[in-house]
Amino acid sequence: MTPSLPIAAEQPLLLFTDLDGTLIDHHSYSAALSQAAVRQLAERGVPLVFCSSKTFAEQVHLQRELGIVQPFIVENGSAVAIPRGYFSSATLSPDTAYELIPLVRTDAALIGAALAHFQDIKRYSNASDLELNAATGLSGAALARARDRSFTETLLTELMPEMEALMRPQLESLGLTLSRGGRFFTVQSAETDKGRAVRRLAEVFGQHWSAAPLIAACGDSANDTSMLSAADIAFLVQKPDHTWVNMDIPGLIKIPEIGPVGFSMAVRMLL
Ligand SMILES: [Mg+2]
Repeated sequence: MTPSLPIAAEQPLLLFTDLDGTLIDHHSYSAALSQAAVRQLAERGVPLVFCSSKTFAEQVHLQRELGIVQPFIVENGSAVAIPRGYFSSATLSPDTAYELIPLVRTDAALIGAALAHFQDIKRYSNASDLELNAATGLSGAALARARDRSFTETLLTELMPEMEALMRPQLESLGLTLSRGGRFFTVQSAETDKGRAVRRLAEVFGQHWSAAPLIAACGDSANDTSMLSAADIAFLVQKPDHTWVNMDIPGLIKIPEIGPVGFSMAVRMLL
């Protein structure tokens, strides 16, 4: 049963959010339209926890841009990052170091070796800066942060259904999975997903808080399914073409707005 909204101020609450196409714009990568909602959450004391395929370096950078210091989940649930002193300090400086807790035993090098068996698959680690720039629009430091993967590989090559059907069982036999984000396919360990990392991090909050928190989550694409399934309150925002990705989750709240505008509407409903 989805709790009725808005959530009472005294209720311990966490909001997990996807980044690309949810907190930040699918095309411009801008978080400008989410900023007011991010502030509202901070004022209410509700931790905003990033849960994305993005790297540690990318998420730390985005936190600094938004002026927040919160735990987050990197590379599709591969690891949890917690600011040092987060549960004991009243205030944390923006350059706080993070403790990184891996939830998988595989790393990017192992996945790269598995993918090397398939011809003509461009991935972040074997693409040139020019190719990566053409595919993502990223350049300079932002491109370096996106490349800095520890646990997963993102494919630049668009997989035709036959290729996907060929690759999937071979990767699965190695304990890896292939999933589709808003833009690209990602290969990662089958040991984890966004949902498992959400439950793990919510447990950590529950151990430090006086009560287990209510979990809200906001996403836009198929790779958010496990995160939204793990949540008590699940919000799905629209894709840039004003449609929702097909998702069957009981109580799922479909927000009639795109990306960051949809995210902001979800925060208003929640608070
Ligand atoms: Mg997304």
